[in-house]
Amino acid sequence: MTSRAGSVPLFDGVDIAALASRVGTPTYAYSASTIRARIDELLSALTGLNALVCYAAKANSNVAVLQLMAEHELGADIVSAGELWRCLQAGIRPGRIVFSGVGKTAEEMREALAAGIGRFNLESRDELETLQAVAASMNTVARAAVRINPDVDARTHAKISTGRAENKFGVGLDEARDWFDHAAGFPNVRLDGLHAHIGSQLLELAPIRQALQRVAAFWHELRDAGHAIASIDVGGGLGVRYREGERPIAAVGYVAAIREALAGFDGRLVLEPGRWLVAEAGVLLTRVIRIKPGANHPFLVLDAAMNDLLRPSLYEAWHDIEPVDAQPRPLETYDVVGPVCETGDTFARARTLPRCNAGDLLMIHTTGAYGASMASTYNSRPLAAEVLLDSGRYAEVRRRQTWQEMIAGEQAARHWHTT
Ligand SMILES: *Cc1c(COP(=O)(O)O)cnc(C)c1O
Repeated sequence: MTSRAGSVPLFDGVDIAALASRVGTPTYAYSASTIRARIDELLSALTGLNALVCYAAKANSNVAVLQLMAEHELGADIVSAGELWRCLQAGIRPGRIVFSGVGKTAEEMREALAAGIGRFNLESRDELETLQAVAASMNTVARAAVRINPDVDARTHAKISTGRAENKFGVGLDEARDWFDHAAGFPNVRLDGLHAHIGSQLLELAPIRQALQRVAAFWHELRDAGHAIASIDVGGGLGVRYREGERPIAAVGYVAAIREALAGFDGRLVLEPGRWLVAEAGVLLTRVIRIKPGANHPFLVLDAAMNDLLRPSLYEAWHDIEPVDAQPRPLETYDVVGPVCETGDTFARARTLPRCNAGDLLMIHTTGAYGASMASTYNSRPLAAEVLLDSGRYAEVRRRQTWQEMIAGEQAARHWHTT
């Protein structure tokens, strides 16, 4: 979505340099057109299937982004009551919300049931028992799926792999079987769904196929044992292009794999993509504060840091970095860092870029997912601004946090209590 009109760099039709002057840096900019194109690509690949796309809200939970999903009648995959609240604020229909995660509290279950969410993806026996108790106390019946751990290697970064037996997510097939066999003991939980999510940033279909086959085999077994399965949730995890040479899986190929593995399934399919819908729609705008000499390479010190974009520190993730102005310049190799007092506050090591000067505006690419949603105020750096761009227009969808907002809720220890 970045292009140039003569010497003016555009992102979704908006002059990015002018935008950065208006809203300051660091700022996340998201292309609504790119997000819509992804939604359309996925929905058209799903034509003819009884399928619901539940956007994984944690990828980018800005209310304006959630609103885009709501406008296209998408649901949401949530992992906390906070995300539930955001999604409802954004107009996502509660019946289209699924609730995943290993640590749902009884209170969160109560809130989700009161809101009327579509389904709980349960990850342990204790959760099943807690949901039974909560639903019974509210005189209602909760719909639920068991998240199975298919024990496949998603061949992605270890920290975003979730479908191995040793990961904390889901339960093994023996345990899941046992839940269905004893479903009568949980009269306030209608357990009629299967769920699997094996990891994130998947760039190959093979592990997805393998997981789908295990889910399908389990569905056949349950069906033959007389258990009705009304929904199969295939999770999310579709990868995106972070660096040259990475080839993401196309929606058609992905959906073809689902159609093949789950042929004959006449219930509802649920998909939970997060990153794939929003990552490539985002750039982080940042300026060079200064260039500091280093033992190996000069340090390019940016005004964005690990508190704004954690992925490089957390996962050693690669993000393309590009100066916004297109003037031809000699190349230079830098360690690209932020101002936070951590050696881990490094966006890139030994990265060759056009030579930069203090004040230059840069774009850090593919930051629409797990960027702003993972941000913190570490080092007392206020949360960055976020803007939504749409065909030549922009709207500020999160204003830069003020210092007052940053310390809201904090106070001197004046009122002492004893328990
Ligand atoms: C994080 C998550 C997703 C989305 O993962 P992406 O890689 O962003 O598509 C989907 N389902 C569950 C249960 C998740 O935890």
